[in-house]
Amino acid sequence: MNPTDPTLPGLAFDGGQAAYPHLLEPITLGSMTLRNRVVMGSMHVGLDDRVRDLPQLAAFYAERARGGVGLIVTGGYSPNVRGWLTPFGSQMSTRLHAARHRQVTDAVHAEGGAIALQILHAGRYGYSPLNVGASDKKSPITPFKPSRLSTRAVDRTASDFARSVVLARKAGYDAVEIMGSEGYLINQFLAERTNDRTDKWGGTADKRMRFPVEVVRRARALVGPDFPIIYRISLVDLVEGGQTWEEVVELAHRLEEAGVTSFNTGIGWHEARIPTIITQVPRGAWREHTARLKAAVSVPVSASNRINTPELAESILAAGEADLVSMARPLLADPEFVNKAATGRADEINTCIACNQACLDHTFSNKKASCLVNPRAGRETTLVLAPTRVARSVAVVGAGPAGLSAAVSAAERGLKVTLFERSGSLGGQFRLAMAVPGKEDFTETLRYYTRRLEVLGVDVRLNTEADDAALAEFDDVILATGVKPRVPAIPGVEHPRVLRYDEVLSGAVVPGATVAVIGAGGIGVDMCHWLTHNEGDQELETWKSYWGVGDPTLHPGGLTEPKPRPAARQVTLLQRKTTPIGIGLGKTSGWAHRAVLKQSGVTQVSGASYDRISSVPGRDDLVRLEVTVDGESRVLDVDHVVLCAGQDSVRDLVAEGRTVIGGADVAAELDAKRAIRQGTEVAAGL
Ligand code: NAP
Ligand code: SF4
Repeated sequence: MNPTDPTLPGLAFDGGQAAYPHLLEPITLGSMTLRNRVVMGSMHVGLDDRVRDLPQLAAFYAERARGGVGLIVTGGYSPNVRGWLTPFGSQMSTRLHAARHRQVTDAVHAEGGAIALQILHAGRYGYSPLNVGASDKKSPITPFKPSRLSTRAVDRTASDFARSVVLARKAGYDAVEIMGSEGYLINQFLAERTNDRTDKWGGTADKRMRFPVEVVRRARALVGPDFPIIYRISLVDLVEGGQTWEEVVELAHRLEEAGVTSFNTGIGWHEARIPTIITQVPRGAWREHTARLKAAVSVPVSASNRINTPELAESILAAGEADLVSMARPLLADPEFVNKAATGRADEINTCIACNQACLDHTFSNKKASCLVNPRAGRETTLVLAPTRVARSVAVVGAGPAGLSAAVSAAERGLKVTLFERSGSLGGQFRLAMAVPGKEDFTETLRYYTRRLEVLGVDVRLNTEADDAALAEFDDVILATGVKPRVPAIPGVEHPRVLRYDEVLSGAVVPGATVAVIGAGGIGVDMCHWLTHNEGDQELETWKSYWGVGDPTLHPGGLTEPKPRPAARQVTLLQRKTTPIGIGLGKTSGWAHRAVLKQSGVTQVSGASYDRISSVPGRDDLVRLEVTVDGESRVLDVDHVVLCAGQDSVRDLVAEGRTVIGGADVAAELDAKRAIRQGTEVAAGL
């Protein structure tokens, strides 16, 4: 049996074939024929490191293979101990390692899928005192200074890569991907920034390319001409001292000669200070870079980064900009992405909203990855929505993220669900998040839930207040009544020029040109973004100029001088804590939010105590906020004060026997990740 036979069960072509003809077309890479052009990109999910997690990892990938994806690429496996991402992290360097991986490759093949092992040497990004590098320069994002590899050690490392390729094939992998981007060891050899060697592995661009070429050449010699070797090439490093475009193309040509079967593409090093995949990055931002490489090489090229819908993927392929499309997080968010697209159900795809909150933020905190919009990701065997045997009736009160998740999950089990919502629309606090510039993708989550409620036949009652009498009719009651914005007890807070964040984000009131924001949590920071942004900031060219993304043929590393945009309003952001503003934000996105505050000229005040809000004598167009900071009084006369001081739970209907979830359960540190997870867990346990 050919495990990648496109006619195997699990993929019924119907409707989608017409809508996504390029995406659903098979492709042959060496000895491997893929049933379509969708690649699940590499992602460390936290199940990759320990033997005891391998069955769970196998289930995670099997579910994606069952969902129709063409090729899965695993998280990165190191070719030796010095290349560990974390101490005792994932490694493929012995026969025992290979033997253990059989359960993973068998599980994927049983579902008609194909899987490639990614081989990644972390280099100076290794979170380990054993880490090594092309030089001994420490990276700005890891605490350990690397040891410089000796000339012989570089040679051995190239051979270790090649041995891992052989072992991957032995383990049943259909292909390998050599990780040459994102600033890991291979990329470190390629850039002047990190390669100051004077031996045969550095000094000139020519010598800096030797290491990756040698890796591929040795691997090819060991596995013969047909075994697919994919190389993930860094198109733009987005760091000072990165490769020039000429170097990238020259490297690609040499790698082709050395025997790569296809290229996957990478954008930016992890230490780059330009966001590459978070939600603020316009969709498809990097497609033109992929197109340039494709025009320069003769092997297939895969596009990646900030591609999250079948429409966008199809348009990239149809335009001839790439031959395959790699999506990592979208396959975390919806394992059935491909099958839904292929069967005319693209509107049922649970779209990745590029928040990073449950995936990369977890990975970089050494926690197991999951997904904010799909809490089952990584928990396929433990969080199961089993079909129910008893037809119970369930009332869910509140259609915010927690309620939507509970209602859809319960209905998926076959329970009879009624969803009550007091307002006239679905979404709750999520609807406000959608209004923040760069968070437009959040609308996809509402589209997903709206469609799933419809398909599953949930009885949705908008503009309906649930009461005890109505709830008494149901076997189970889930309260997801959410939160209301907190109005802090500051003297004068009832002043008409004091607004709540929901009034601003919903568009009910438009603040004036000068604003003081009280509270610097996630919503306070988002509010500053909203207040300072201008129409068109999210247009690709404006966004690139704002962050300093330049034409790679003109600027090495694709980096140019950022051109800050003029802020639409003058904003002061205040908090009581004395810690720097924004340090509690997500690990992989917080730095970008902090950069936006800085670039937009937002005045940041920590350690404030709020004394009084009052009118400004003789000015009814202003409001006065008096605060004390470091023992000194300050007066802010502004057009509006906006309150972003957290939320309080709405618990009116709480009673014995009813389950409370989401913000109604705990408002502090309320977040959609917990709300959606709780909704799914409660529904699974009914
Ligand atoms: P939050 O993170 O709890 O922040 C509210 C802030 O208001 C607190 O940090 C607190 O700071 C201040 N505050 C609380 N009580 C106050 C009072 N009585 N008077 C004055 N200030 C008070 O809540 P949020 O900003 O509303 O965000 C809610 C949740 O949404 C977040 O926890 C986050 O999970 C999620 N979210 C995340 C993001 C993101 O990551 N980008 C964006 C939006 C929302 P001080 O005590 O220091 O003043
Ligand atoms: Fe996408 Fe957010 Fe889920 Fe990560 S957690 S896969 S970014 S939706």
